[in-house]
Amino acid sequence: SLKGKTAIITGSNSGIGLGVAHELARAGADVVLNSFTDTDEDHKLAEDLGREHGVTARYIKADMSKGEECRHLIEAAGACDILVNNAGIQHVAPIDEFPAEKWDAIIAINLSSAFHTTAAGLPMMRKAGWGRVVNIASAHGLTASPYKSAYISAKHGIVGMTKTVALETAKEPITANAICPGYVLTPLVESQIPDTAKKYDMSEEEVKEKVILERQPSKEFATVEQIGGTAVFLCSDAAAQITGTTISVDGGWTAL
Ligand code: NAD
Repeated sequence: SLKGKTAIITGSNSGIGLGVAHELARAGADVVLNSFTDTDEDHKLAEDLGREHGVTARYIKADMSKGEECRHLIEAAGACDILVNNAGIQHVAPIDEFPAEKWDAIIAINLSSAFHTTAAGLPMMRKAGWGRVVNIASAHGLTASPYKSAYISAKHGIVGMTKTVALETAKEPITANAICPGYVLTPLVESQIPDTAKKYDMSEEEVKEKVILERQPSKEFATVEQIGGTAVFLCSDAAAQITGTTISVDGGWTAL
């Protein structure tokens, strides 16, 4: 059980982050939800999650595109036994048309935020004598697709950072690993469907089956519960010697 552990999940008011928060809370962890929005709904999500699983759940606002706010999130949480770096955005365009400000935002949110949170979180893990860093990378951290240069660079980058953190903590009761999901039907993926449907003159259902899941041999989306369950496994004693590696949850994508 993760009872007594505090888990901070960046970018967790929707999608995979929220799913991971639920599974960690189900396993007994107290959780800190985060986004940059700070709405009543965000606070209610934490309240409901805490009540559902009988744990302490808080919402802390911090913009993961800003290094100082990343570090503040960890400090404000007061404890950081489990750090899940999940916040992420996507933008799709050919590299010669890719807006420079989108490149900067994606590198900041999908990669640099994890540098700042890990830098702030590791000393707290060391003090507690136990820690888990779980980075939500992607199949795109291991392989590429056209038109996603910033995302793929950031995801390959976070896989490299995961290995480095694992080596720097190798002799301590701390592990660092990356989960590499294939496609999960979250707002991030759903938002890409209408444009793709227009582009290929297809229905949205056809886009899901023929375009998105084309890469995923199982022909099924992974679920946020499956990503959360993988995170819970990485936090378990069974995974204590698993460090510096990636676990794919991608229906066979990276086996192709
Ligand atoms: P999502 O859009 O549902 O969630 C993204 C989360 O990040 C939201 O909670 C949002 O509030 C938060 N966020 C965005 N910008 C932020 C900022 N500046 N500061 C703080 N929080 C911010 O998307 P998702 O699919 O759940 O994605 C979560 C992670 O999983 C991302 O890192 C994504 O790259 C990764 N991933 C997703 C898929 C997929 O198929 N959905 C596949 C592989 C990896």
